[in-house]
Amino acid sequence: MHEKCGVVGISLTDRDAARPLYYSLYALQHRGQESAGIVTHDGFQQHSHVEMGLVSEAFQEGDLEPLAGSNGIGHVRYPTAGSVDTCCAQPFSVSFKSGSLGLSHNGNLVNTDEIRDELANLGHAFTSDGDTEVIAHDLARNLLEADLVRAVKRTMNRLHGSYSLTIMHDETVLGVRDPQGNRPLCIGELDDGYVIASESAAIDTLGGELVRDVRPGELVVLQPDGTGYDTYQLVDRDHSAHCFFEHIYFARPDSVINEELVYDVRRQLGRALWAESGIETDAVMPVPDSGRSFASGYAEAAPEDVEFAEGLMKNRYVGRTFIMPTQDERERAVRLKLNPIRSTVEGKTVTIIDDSIVRGTTSTQLVELLHEAGAEEVHVRIGAPPIVAPCYLGIDMASREELIAGDQSVEEICAEIKADSLAYLSIDAVAEALNKSKADLCLGCVTGAYPYDIEGEQTDREVSRPSVDQASADD
Ligand code: 5GP
Ligand code: MG
Repeated sequence: MHEKCGVVGISLTDRDAARPLYYSLYALQHRGQESAGIVTHDGFQQHSHVEMGLVSEAFQEGDLEPLAGSNGIGHVRYPTAGSVDTCCAQPFSVSFKSGSLGLSHNGNLVNTDEIRDELANLGHAFTSDGDTEVIAHDLARNLLEADLVRAVKRTMNRLHGSYSLTIMHDETVLGVRDPQGNRPLCIGELDDGYVIASESAAIDTLGGELVRDVRPGELVVLQPDGTGYDTYQLVDRDHSAHCFFEHIYFARPDSVINEELVYDVRRQLGRALWAESGIETDAVMPVPDSGRSFASGYAEAAPEDVEFAEGLMKNRYVGRTFIMPTQDERERAVRLKLNPIRSTVEGKTVTIIDDSIVRGTTSTQLVELLHEAGAEEVHVRIGAPPIVAPCYLGIDMASREELIAGDQSVEEICAEIKADSLAYLSIDAVAEALNKSKADLCLGCVTGAYPYDIEGEQTDREVSRPSVDQASADD
């Protein structure tokens, strides 16, 4: 199960957290459109509202009032094929002997089955096949034997994969980022409290200030009275494995992640794309919206007589991205979503800029559309390296067979999408724009070698799955 989601947690001094949580979920809506939920705690008990759909659909007038309490967490979930029921909607909540737990998870574990089997043998019953429930049960068990901080550490020592979590233990809100920092998570300060969120755009929405990223392997504990927080560096690794695709596609351009503004990174990638593979053209056109910042960087680096044209119009009401089950539907969806402006295209050589190619559906359709609209030549430039392998860490891309670059060269792909030329960006340019060494990035989907021990796949560093029974030994 691949989940790229949005998480948030808030502690306030003197007002209910539900409304700011609700606004944060709006700010994180791009990270997940399948379900939305909030869990709060009023000092006595938990309150929960989790529904399918967009935030605007999941919450109706009156749904926030019952969510009492100045501490809470929230979640938006990304749609994954075949899982359109409420079993996996979050936050996950459970009550057990030593209190109540709520959990919001962004990321994907790669050793879920081992931990679930071990817990099942101890008598734990599971209601879903998701990894979030496994984390909740593991933490619940550790909380019977250890204090909060040590219990979280024990659980972290058993998990392998990516996880940015906001957790509520009774009324205490926690944030946890996996030891390799694969998914983003940051801390923000409000006038009357603190927030932990997937992206800083959520903090901006609340009128707060970004304090900093949660460090890889760090636990943040918000004080339930909203006056501060404590941090604990629980697990140390020599290198991070930040997902570079957050900066390419997934995150909002107005978010700061790993200390880099996503918009600046995308523009720099656009300039690098011109430097690496710029081609003479009449007009440069972004594929809206994901190609926009790349195209503005590319056009900025190009000679002055190259026009930056908004030649492709997006139907904003097709905003919600369903995972289309058939290729035919996916092709139709591109035409439903994007339409060229004839006068900007007719008789011209145009270069379209997109952030990435996954299956190749979008580029194939756009090249055809632009030719139909009268373009002489259509060149395609992509602000990421070819995606050659699947993601196991929380981005639901496609299987290897579905990836157009899975077994084809750039020349072959160019021929398949019928472009006049095609170029991708180099991995080095990505690392440079992110201001990170390649050893601190997860590049699995563009190299086929992962910074995690995944069954049947290669690794790019020395990593091994923790043995599931080792944890209590080392706290
Ligand atoms: P393709 O049409 O080649 O399968 O996908 C490429 C398009 O999908 C690009 O325009 C890119 O912005 C977008 N894209 C890239 N990654 C993802 C993803 O994980 N989910 C969704 N819905 N779209 C994506
Ligand atoms: Mg796109």
